[in-house]
Amino acid sequence: MIRQYELVERIKSYDPGMDEDLVNRAYVYAMRMHGTQKRASGDPYFSHPLEVAGILTDMKMDTATVCTALLHDTVEDTEATLEEIEKLFGKEVARLVDGVTKLSKIEFQSAQEKQAENFRKLVLAMSEDIRVLLVKLSDRLHNMRTLFHMPKPEKRKRIALETIEIYAPLAERIGIHKIKEELEDLSFAEINAEARDSITARLGYLRAEGGEAVVARIIDELEKKLKEAGIEAEVYGREKTKYSIWKKMQRKNISFEQLSDIMAFRISVTGVSECYHALGIIHGLYPTVPGRFKDYISLPKPNGYRSLHTTVIGPENHRIEVQIRTPEMHEEAELGVAAHWSYKQDGNSEGKAAMKEGNQFRWLRELMDIVEHAQKPEEFLENTKLELYQDQVFCFTPNGDLIALPRGATPVDFAYAVHSDLGDKTVGAKVNGRIVPLNTALGNGDQVEITTSKSQTPSTNWERFVVTGKAKSRIRRFIRMQQRDQYMDLGRKMLEKVLKQAGFDLNEKGFNHDMYRQFKVENFEDLMTGIGSGNVASRDVFYALHPEQRPREAPPTPQTFVVPEKKTHQKGKSQPMPIKGLIPGMALHFARCCHPLPGDRIVGIVTTGKGVTIHTIDCDTLESFADTPERWLDVSWEDGEDTPESHVGRLLITIANTPGALGTLSTVIGKNGGNITNLKITNRSLDFWDMIIDVWVRDTRHLSDIIAALRATPEITTVNRARSR
Ligand code: MN
Repeated sequence: MIRQYELVERIKSYDPGMDEDLVNRAYVYAMRMHGTQKRASGDPYFSHPLEVAGILTDMKMDTATVCTALLHDTVEDTEATLEEIEKLFGKEVARLVDGVTKLSKIEFQSAQEKQAENFRKLVLAMSEDIRVLLVKLSDRLHNMRTLFHMPKPEKRKRIALETIEIYAPLAERIGIHKIKEELEDLSFAEINAEARDSITARLGYLRAEGGEAVVARIIDELEKKLKEAGIEAEVYGREKTKYSIWKKMQRKNISFEQLSDIMAFRISVTGVSECYHALGIIHGLYPTVPGRFKDYISLPKPNGYRSLHTTVIGPENHRIEVQIRTPEMHEEAELGVAAHWSYKQDGNSEGKAAMKEGNQFRWLRELMDIVEHAQKPEEFLENTKLELYQDQVFCFTPNGDLIALPRGATPVDFAYAVHSDLGDKTVGAKVNGRIVPLNTALGNGDQVEITTSKSQTPSTNWERFVVTGKAKSRIRRFIRMQQRDQYMDLGRKMLEKVLKQAGFDLNEKGFNHDMYRQFKVENFEDLMTGIGSGNVASRDVFYALHPEQRPREAPPTPQTFVVPEKKTHQKGKSQPMPIKGLIPGMALHFARCCHPLPGDRIVGIVTTGKGVTIHTIDCDTLESFADTPERWLDVSWEDGEDTPESHVGRLLITIANTPGALGTLSTVIGKNGGNITNLKITNRSLDFWDMIIDVWVRDTRHLSDIIAALRATPEITTVNRARSR
C-alpha cells in the first residue's frame, strides 16, 4: 500500500505548489470511512482508492483529481454523503466525486435498447469534467489488475467484456494509449486465456530464436545512420501487445513470422522539423513499403495523436514499422488528455486552459453542447465525430424515441426494431421527410417514418438487405410459412396427377396414421408438403393408397436424412439440424466440398428427390448452379449457442518435420477444445509435411480460434481452412 507521505511526495514531485493538507485530509477521511471493509483479495478496501490515486499520480494529475480518487467510492459504499464531502473538501472535489459516482451507476448491458440511453448518461457525466472519466478509467484499471481475486468466473468475464467493449475504446478516444493497452490485455487474459498463453509462448520462442539480438542490431544501425546524417536521435524497440497481435492474426490470414508483426520501432528526435528530417534519412536508406506512410503530425488523429508512421525494409532485410516523434508527442500519445491536464514545470493554469480550448476535445465539447441544448432529439449525436459507437447508428421515431441499430441498418430493420407488426406491414419509408427506398442504409440522427398497409406482408427481397436479427427472423418465418403453403399446394397437384393417370381421384379418406408414419409425417398437410418439396415421391404415396397398383419390383425408397418436424432429440441419423429456412420434412446434407460450419454464411441447393445440400456462400461448387436460381434456398444457422452439436472443419496445415511437431499440433487443437477426427498427410518432404486435418468444432468462431492458436505455434508453418477445390 502507498503510504500517506509517499502519495504527497509523488504529487509534489510534479506539482510543488500542491494542496498538501487537502490530500492528507482526503486520505484520512477515506481510510476512516471504508473502515474494516475488505476487497475480494482480503486486502483492506482502502487499498483500492489509494491505488487508483497512485495511477493518477503516474499521469501527473492535479490535487483535486487525486483527492477524488481517494474519495471515489465513499458516497456509494460508505456512510459518507455528498454534502459532507463538499463541506470538507470543497465544491470542485464534491462535483468530481459526484460525477464518478454517477458514472459507476451506469451499467452497460449488451442489450441494445439500454445502450443508447446509457451512452447519453455517460456523455453527460464525463462532459462536465473530463477528469471524471480519468478517475473512472483508473478505477477500472485497478479493478482489472485485481480481477483474478474475484471468485465467480461469469462475473469476471462480464467485467472483462465491458472493459474491452466500453472502457478501452473510451481510453483510446481520449488518447490514453497506455491505459487502453493495459485494459485490453487484462481483459484478453480473462476472455481468452488460452489464446493469450499461446501468443506468450510464441513470443518467447521468437525471442529465444535470436529475435532479441536482431532488435538490438536494428536499433544500433538506425541510431548510427541517423547520427551520421547529423540527427540526434534515440531509437526504441517495443513489443506490440499480445491482444493487438491476436487481433491481427484473427483479422488477417497471417501467422506472425515477421518482425513487423511483433515489434514497433520508435525514433525519438528533438523537434518537429527533425521528425521530417529523420523520415527523409530513413526513406533514403531503406526501401519503403508502399501505402504505409502516415503523417499524423500535419494531420493529427481525432484524439490528438501526433507522429510520423512508415514501414521500410530495414536493416538485414527485416520489414519494420517505424514511428517518428518528439518526446512531447510521445507523452501525449501515452497519456492523451492527461498529458494536457497534468502539471508541467512551467506552471499549471496554462495546461488547463490549453486543454479546455484545445482542439483535442472539441468533439467532447460539441457533444456536451448537443446533449445539453438539443431542442430536437435528432440533433443529438448529429455531427459528432465520436467513433466509439462507429458500429452503431442512432435514429429517431417521429415521436423522438431513440432507436439504436447496427451500422448498415435499413428502414425495414428500423420498423422491426420499433414493433414486429410495424415491420410486417411496411410499404415505404421517409427519412428526414424524404421518401427513400426500403434498402437505404440509415445514418446517425435520421428521423424515420414508416408507412404501412394492412394488406402488406414481408417480402423475400427484404431478407437480402436487412441486418438485424429480429428483422431477419421475422421475415424468414413468414417466408417459411408461405413456402410451406406453396409446397403443400404443389404436392397436392402432383399427387392428383399421378392418381388421375391411373383413373383415381384424390380422396382424403384413403389416408391414415399408419401411412403418415410410413412417410415420417404427422398429417395430410405435411405429406402434401413433403411431396411438393421433393422429399416424398408422389408415386410412393400412390402405391400406399392403392397397393394393388404397385409393380412387382418397386424401386427402393431412397434413404435420406430427414429434418424432423419437431425438435425432438432422437438417437442416430436424424438429429435436428440447427438450420433455419428449411421446410420441415426436407432432407438435408452438408456439402463435402466446403464443410459449412455454424457462423458461415450458407445457401441451400435443392435437388429433387435428394433434398437440400448446404454450401458456404463462397463455395466454388455453387457456380454450377448459377443458371438454376430456383434451386437456391435461403437458409441460415439457428441463433443461439444452445445447439451444442459439433461440425467438421477441415484444415490444410503445413508443419515442420521435427520431432514432436505432430504431438504439439494435436495438443494445441485439443487444448482449444477441438477434436481431431481425421488426419491425412498429403505431401511429405524432408523439411515439411502438408496435411489435411478434420476437426470437430462448434462453429466458425471456434475454428478460427483454433486456427489462430495454431498460427501462434512455432512448429506450424501455415494453417488455412480448406475450401472447395
Ligand atoms: Mn472503485
